[in-house]
Amino acid sequence: MNPLRSIIADQIRRFGPMSVAEYMTLALLHPQHGYYTQNDPFGAGGDFVTAPEISQMFGEMLALSLIQTWRNQDIKGPFILAELGPGRGTLMADILRVARKAPDFASAARIWLVEASPVLKTRQKAALAGADLHWAESVSDLPEGPLFLIANEFFDALPIHQFQKTDTGWQERMIGLKDAHFAFGLGAEIPEMTSANGARPGDIRETRPAANGIIGDISKRISRFGGAGFVIDYGGSASFGDTFQAVARHEKVDPLLDPGRADLTAHVDFGALQQAAQDVACSALTPQGVFLERLGMTSRARALAQNLKGAALENHIAAHRRLTHPDEMGSLFKVLGLYPQAVAAPYGLE
Ligand code: SAH
Repeated sequence: MNPLRSIIADQIRRFGPMSVAEYMTLALLHPQHGYYTQNDPFGAGGDFVTAPEISQMFGEMLALSLIQTWRNQDIKGPFILAELGPGRGTLMADILRVARKAPDFASAARIWLVEASPVLKTRQKAALAGADLHWAESVSDLPEGPLFLIANEFFDALPIHQFQKTDTGWQERMIGLKDAHFAFGLGAEIPEMTSANGARPGDIRETRPAANGIIGDISKRISRFGGAGFVIDYGGSASFGDTFQAVARHEKVDPLLDPGRADLTAHVDFGALQQAAQDVACSALTPQGVFLERLGMTSRARALAQNLKGAALENHIAAHRRLTHPDEMGSLFKVLGLYPQAVAAPYGLE
């Protein structure tokens, strides 16, 4: 029995088919049964593994870029060091460990975590014990001030809408019920999608209004107060086709089968994020592997390897490869930097 399945089915019976965005929101964040609200899905024994969970080097490299970028802007006084969707808190813990070697940066940083899941907030509290932490429900609740922000695999979890080209126009892809199972169908006709010139009947386009709103908010703060944003995620410069997917226990599964028990994501359309950014500069969209190598990850990997042997050494070498190699996360994952127009791009994203 999946209680969330019954709740969603009941809503569809009462109100009709729902958008993919509404389904994603319920599946991930339903207050009692949502995937993130009730689970800690990370790690080898969980559903999926993220870059900070693969190796401490990921957070260490990001910390180097954050600290250098903060120094370059010569920001005086306190600033906000924010993370969106911090998961287990591993990435922020790695950053704060490096920041101990830059006490001026560490003492000016006010740490803000934007997290929707109570279970993960508890994990973050434990992972970051000893740090002075603040939580916010959304970016708009962050205080004003210079903003240094990181988001790793956060935007891919934000709800998407899907639209399908038909012979006559565009229709939103909706989720309804067919023989008591969830099934895709098409909703009402919508006005022409200007971003989708050249689409042919059957083609699918995805939009993510929530992400555009968040990028708009972040970019206005960075433009006004200084700082930088690092968006790291899987995706590319556009989103064509159906990229809505579910993962459970490290395998792709049917996203409509078991809501609340699988992670739901879709590719991040970095082109749309760049368009949503206002009054800031956007860095080149940089492959994760290139970004990490530019920051010196290979030398760091060698230094750490000196103290390792046997299986630990093998794991460490595999982790380096996994984060940087083009056949693994190195090119599928991208880094986009947002920064004030008058300053240099963040270190590693120039
Ligand atoms: N950054 C972490 C976790 C990525 S998973 C890592 O790299 O390991 C996505 C994270 O975003 C989880 O912490 C999830 O609870 C959070 N999240 C998803 N949707 C959210 C929303 N709308 N508002 C706030 N947090 C959200």
